[in-house]
Amino acid sequence: MSKKNKFLLKINYENCKGCEYCIITCPQKVLSLSDEVNKLGYRFVKIINQQNCNGCGRCYIMCPDYLIEIFSATD
Ligand code: SF4
Ligand code: SF4
Repeated sequence: MSKKNKFLLKINYENCKGCEYCIITCPQKVLSLSDEVNKLGYRFVKIINQQNCNGCGRCYIMCPDYLIEIFSATD
């Protein structure tokens, strides 16, 4: 059976300002804005489609505060 790369995201939710740059730039629609607010009072980004992430890194590059980390995992 062939091995398939998977990508896992880790987001620093508490420092997210909800600017949505990462959401807009994601080609796979992995991210969305939460209805809840964090300690800063901002609606923060949440992961809605982790399995669709292709590891392209656009969200990492776009976040002004580098709040998103991408990890590669192999099946
Ligand atoms: S790495 Fe690419 S596909 Fe994955 S969440 Fe970020 S922008 Fe979307
Ligand atoms: S780009 Fe960064 S600050 Fe903006 S919504 Fe995404 S994680 Fe939050």
